[in-house]
Formats: sequence, C-alpha cells, structure tokens
Amino acid sequence: MMFCPKCGSIMTPKKEKGKNSLVCSCGYTNKKAEKIELKEEIKEIKEIEAIEEEVEIYPLVESDECAKCGHKKAYFWEIQTRASDEPATKFLKCQKCKHIWRDYK
Ligand SMILES: [Zn+2]
Ligand SMILES: [Zn+2]
Repeated sequence: MMFCPKCGSIMTPKKEKGKNSLVCSCGYTNKKAEKIELKEEIKEIKEIEAIEEEVEIYPLVESDECAKCGHKKAYFWEIQTRASDEPATKFLKCQKCKHIWRDYK
C-alpha cells in the first residue's frame, strides 16, 4: 500500500495502456511506478526476440485475427515474466506474417 506524498490519502493502482501506476484522488500520479513498468516492457521485448528463432516448435493454435494480416492461426507459448505467483504472459506469433503479440485474456 502507498500513501500520496501530497495529501496522505491511500493511492489506488490504475492500469493505463498496459502499464501500472498509482493514482490519488487529488490528481497525483506516482511516476516512479510507471518507470519500473517501462523497464519490464523492455525486458519482455528482449525475451520475444530471443525466442523468435525457435518459435516454430511451439503449437499452432486457433487465435484471434492477426492485427497485421487477419490470419487466424498462430504459434502459441507462455513466458513467466514476473513473480512466479503471477500468471504467465501468453504470446502468439502469426503463422503467415510472423507478427508477434501478447494475449491478455
Ligand atoms: Zn493525494
Ligand atoms: Zn499475420
């Protein structure tokens, strides 16, 4: 739990564009929390790049439409990016155009 340095109220976590930040009803936002999330984002991108070469060994599944080409089959795998008690992040890679995206469902 975190308290607002401005007014002392309990700050509430808020998800914006996939990033976590802490906000207060007085309008104060914890920018530090945003920066930490950004670093994790970079780490995840590196993990995607590392796995790209061997992704074809992963199962081909029925997926949502690819944002780039509309194809509905993608390779699927999961990566444990954060603490082990949190659910793994699901990744999909379009069979056709090799576009990679994260499945937030
Ligand atoms: Zn406040
Ligand atoms: Zn595609």
